[in-house]
Amino acid sequence: MTAEEIKKKDSEYIMHTYGRFDIVLDHGKGATLWDADGKKYVDLTSGIGVNSLGHGNPAIVNAVTKQAEKLMHASNLYYTEPMVSAAEKLVTATGMGKIFFANSGAEANEGAIKLARKYSFDKYGEGRNTIVTLIQSFHGRTVTTLKATGQEKFHQYFFPFTEGFAYAKANDLADVTAKADKTCCAVMMEMIQGEGGVLPLNKEFVQGVAKFCKENDILLIVDEVQTGIGRCGSLFAYEQYGIAPDIVTMAKGLGGGLPIGGVLAAKSCADVMGPGTHGSTFGGNPVSAASANVVLDTVMKPEFLKEVEEKGAYIKEKVLGFHSPAVKNVRGMGLMLGIIVDPEKRAGYVAKLMEKGVLVLTAGTDAIRLLPPLVITYEEIDQALEAMKGVFES
Ligand SMILES: *Cc1c(COP(=O)(O)O)cnc(C)c1O
Repeated sequence: MTAEEIKKKDSEYIMHTYGRFDIVLDHGKGATLWDADGKKYVDLTSGIGVNSLGHGNPAIVNAVTKQAEKLMHASNLYYTEPMVSAAEKLVTATGMGKIFFANSGAEANEGAIKLARKYSFDKYGEGRNTIVTLIQSFHGRTVTTLKATGQEKFHQYFFPFTEGFAYAKANDLADVTAKADKTCCAVMMEMIQGEGGVLPLNKEFVQGVAKFCKENDILLIVDEVQTGIGRCGSLFAYEQYGIAPDIVTMAKGLGGGLPIGGVLAAKSCADVMGPGTHGSTFGGNPVSAASANVVLDTVMKPEFLKEVEEKGAYIKEKVLGFHSPAVKNVRGMGLMLGIIVDPEKRAGYVAKLMEKGVLVLTAGTDAIRLLPPLVITYEEIDQALEAMKGVFES
């Protein structure tokens, strides 16, 4: 099929829920992508933070191929090795208790919400089920996680939504403690609000919330779906905030391109979800888990994480060094960065970058969001920076 045919069939047969960029992607290698017409791009998106080890990674391709030949799917009625290995790595590295595997970020957050509510129900009975989330957060697209998302624009059309959410201002401890009343069982937050605009929380706030939660037996859920698995220069971003969450959710980067998510629970609440309380047919699928094992073996090395941090700092410094009033700021940690620009001009910059062969994302109203594969090379980074310099300085 030609690119034109693909686009035509897409518009004819696929629901129009996405505003797609006008590119038909064909293949990739590392942080470089090629479209159906052979045009080359530096990929600063990694499929929204998913292809953490880049495109066509030989170790991932090898692990996935081998596992597909051996056993593609087993369901959770049986034991399988790849899932257990990935679980052991995540639990051991974090000092948490146990993990539940799901397929996506929204599904992981649904699991975390269920776990928090059951923990409270088991201990205190009915009526203690509110989950406080932050304004500008994003937690997913299911009916429940839409309501968990602290942005009014997501609370439309699909009524009735799941009850039991309250919203507090980010970086405002007094607002969190006011919203977390006697009915509260958990606080859920992202360390850097990704979709909300690459907005990092400040350390004092996060530590204040963690302390308040501990004192009141309120579970602290950290949504690491976007920030986790090495993205911010540590296995999980919360490590850099010096806190110990009760529940950590993950997805995007974990499978290196295949769908897998997880709900990691601290020892104190690891056994809340007993037999029959939760499930997922595909969750922890052997092929996805085999890929996750390669990702984890790679990103859990301190040298690798240090490189992520260094590459991020390099990009930040270079972009802030452009002689351009177009760049107002650069926010973020590791390889999760937001270049802050005039909201009116943002779409134009993104289009020009695409023209020059650089793919970027947006977030919030004013951020050009960069989530490159963690293995992006300095050569690829420099190619992207040169194009950006041209676009922002013109
Ligand atoms: C992307 C994202 C989600 C939703 O993940 P899906 O895999 O699309 O369901 C949830 N939380 C955060 C922080 C995200 O960035």
